[in-house]
Order: sequence, then C-alpha cells, then structure tokens
Amino acid sequence: MARKTIDLRGEVVAITGGARGIGLATATRLTRLGATVAIGDIDEPRVKAAGEDLGLTVHSRLDVTDPRSFEEFLDRVERELGPLDVLVNNAGIMPVGQLTDEPDEVTRRILDINVFGVIVGSRLAARRMAPRRRGHVINIASLAGETFLPGLATYSGSKAAVVGFTESARRELRRSGVCFSAVLPTFTDTELSAGTPGTRGMRNAAPEDIAEAIAALITKPRPEVRVTRAAGLMSASQRYLPRR
Ligand code: NAD
Repeated sequence: MARKTIDLRGEVVAITGGARGIGLATATRLTRLGATVAIGDIDEPRVKAAGEDLGLTVHSRLDVTDPRSFEEFLDRVERELGPLDVLVNNAGIMPVGQLTDEPDEVTRRILDINVFGVIVGSRLAARRMAPRRRGHVINIASLAGETFLPGLATYSGSKAAVVGFTESARRELRRSGVCFSAVLPTFTDTELSAGTPGTRGMRNAAPEDIAEAIAALITKPRPEVRVTRAAGLMSASQRYLPRR
C-alpha cells in the first residue's frame, strides 16, 4: 500500500539545535514537505551555513539555556514567518563518563541544556500558542530516559525528566489547544553519539528516521513516539492517546 504523502504547507516550525544531526535532518525533511522552517543553534557559523544551504529565512544563534535568547529567537520567527505552529525542542548534549567522576559543571550543563532549555522553550511557545488555541511542542527525549546505559546516568535522568515534564505539560495544556509530544529516539548516527562506547556495531537509526517520525507526528499528534531502529519500525505508545 502506498504511503500517504505528508503535506506540511502552511506550518511554521522552529527547531532548536538545528545546525547538525537530528535537528538538521528534521529541518531538511520538513522543508521538503512544505513547512516554513526556522533553525536556531548555539553554533553560529554552522547554523548560518545550514540555513543558507536550505534557503531558510530564519537561521539564528540561539542558546536554549538563556530565556532572553530563546524569546528573541521566537520573536524573530513570528515576525518574519508568521505565528509559530510547531516548536521542536531538539538541542541536547550527551557527555559520557562515570557518575562518580562527573564534575559539577558537567552535571549542571547537561541539566541546563537538556532540561531547563526544554522547559523554557515549551513555556515560551505555549504562551504564544494558547491564546490562538493552536500549536504543538515536540520535545526530543531519548530511549536512554527509560533504559539503563552505563556512563550516561545524568543524561538518562535528564531525558526521563523531559518525558515526565512533557506528559505533565500535555495534561495541563490540552484544553488550551496546545499539544505536547515526546519523541524517544534510539541511538542515532550523529556527532553526539559518535564517541559513545557501546554503540559501535549496534544497528543505530539514521537522523532521517527521527526526522520522518517528527514529520508524521506533526500531522497526527501523539503524546509519545519511540523510534526504535529504522523508519518503518517506529512504534507509538498507546498509553496516553490524546483526547483531541
Ligand atoms: P548533535 O550533537 O549532532 O546536535 C545537537 C545540536 O544542538 C548541535 O548543533 C549543538 O550545537 C546544539 N546545541 C547544543 N547546546 C545548545 C544550546 N545551549 N542552545 C542551542 N543549541 C545547542 O546531537 P543529535 O544526536 O542530533 O541530538 C539531537 C537531540 O536528540 C538531543 O536532544 C539528543 O539528546 C537527542 N537524542 C540523540 C540520540 C543519538 O543517539 N544521537 C538518541 C536519542 C536522543
């Protein structure tokens, strides 16, 4: 049976951490599907190059840990592209190391980017979306948030926090017309996972697999989507089907 083509024309989508990896693959795929995409990333030269390559109007420096930087990014998106329909909170880091050796500043940085950045982005986007009774916040968590992986305790905890936060926000805001979804990718071949011991020889997903799951999610919001291996093996949790 032929797969229905996804049409995202008319959707204004902002993606954090869009300069490379899953964020860039998502920006590329959504643009091809007709969405009007903006990318923000702390890596200014790379986000500029990626944005120019894709012909995007908005490709800006963004530090998700700085609420002012985030607000300015969203202001620019809405000023230049129109009301925000979808925010993909994708920026994240994954330092690997033994918990007992982890310096405080590494712990703080992981939580700042992976948790605080996601919560701030969700809040700022929901404030804009709720009065219009339309919008979708997609938070990129990880299967690591529910699986034991040695050397990744703080990262796993941060991703479990994203899952819990997203579900709580979803319930709190569902009557306002704003959807919340969490995407839990398996190991995916990007620079983030390149140095991770234990992923070698595994059948990882490609960033394009995660991008495809996100594209499908935009057309049909679900609370949680687990991307377990490759496109086609995507399994969606049926535990909390949205009421809308
Ligand atoms: P990546 O390292 O390739 O890309 C992450 C991007 O985020 C980079 O461009 C980086 O500059 C940007 N970034 C980092 N800190 C930032 C900040 N403070 N503000 C704005 N941008 C910032 O990583 P990826 O593999 O594409 O991961 C994307 C997301 O997917 C992350 O949240 C990651 O935890 C999650 N994830 C990745 C995997 C994997 O195996 N690659 C698996 C599950 C979940």
